[in-house]
Amino acid sequence: MSFGPIPIPQEHLAARRLAEALGLPAFDPGWVWLAGSGPGDPGLVTVLGAHAIAEAEVILYDALVNAAILKLARPKAELIYAGKRGGKASTKQSDISRTLVAYARKGARVLRLKGGDPFVFGRGGEEALTLARAGVPFRVVPGVTAGIGGLAYAGIPVTHRDTNHAVTFVTGHGADGNLPALDWTAVAKGSPTLVFYMALAHADEIAQKLIDAGRDTNEPAAIVSNATDGEQDVRVTTLARLSEEAKTVDAPAIFVIGENVRLREGLDWLGALNEGRVLKPDPLGRAKLRDVS
Ligand code: SAH
Repeated sequence: MSFGPIPIPQEHLAARRLAEALGLPAFDPGWVWLAGSGPGDPGLVTVLGAHAIAEAEVILYDALVNAAILKLARPKAELIYAGKRGGKASTKQSDISRTLVAYARKGARVLRLKGGDPFVFGRGGEEALTLARAGVPFRVVPGVTAGIGGLAYAGIPVTHRDTNHAVTFVTGHGADGNLPALDWTAVAKGSPTLVFYMALAHADEIAQKLIDAGRDTNEPAAIVSNATDGEQDVRVTTLARLSEEAKTVDAPAIFVIGENVRLREGLDWLGALNEGRVLKPDPLGRAKLRDVS
């Protein structure tokens, strides 16, 4: 197969014009771009990510990539599904890396598209290292990660100066599928807000370890599943009830534990928009501190 220039149809010129106006880098043949698609809402792909989709000749995309954004691809682009869900290796990591290298060596513009941000619990680093070892030039295009953007769509700011000056991101899924061997006391004590990825399978253990390490059982917690993608489901609960709640939630889901969850009562802008939810002006009961009027 050869990868000569493919004519760009009219509707794709918009993406190209935007790229030119912003002076975005050319996607050169023989390169791999490793890009994040954002958590689900196609509007959350970056401009550079959209440019990459529009220019690529081969796109290897993950299960968590919203297929809607692939509409930006050239009609003749080769779209390869490289999905892995829930730890089931439907496409092996080594096969994905090999495929990227093989297409790049044939002179294709190769896009590796991942959900969220490619370097956040997404094995983007591993794939980029394989490219580096193979001498294949690559660029990394960051994306909106689920643990930040997904929470924002649930009306939960990942930081807020009245609730947390730090946040910790944790994966519930180690390389062997078990809960990672972290210093759980340090995790529990290290920051007021904890955000967990890939935590549904080990929700019980996670909550128990945090409680054992001294986190308050009544602390607010939320589970945001299918964040930003139209199927978004937000459950507000407590640390004690987190694992019970997790049993009735679909993947993918983010857990957030901390006082910042309370802000949702004032900031659930999507609930206000879609369901007419009335937002509390002062969810923390301390408006006087921060009023600008
Ligand atoms: N690189 C991705 C994370 C990949 S790990 C990112 O930056 O977002 C996969 C985990 O991400 C899922 O198990 C889940 O915890 C989280 N996730 C990804 N998309 C999500 C979504 N739309 N809603 C909720 N969680 C999501």
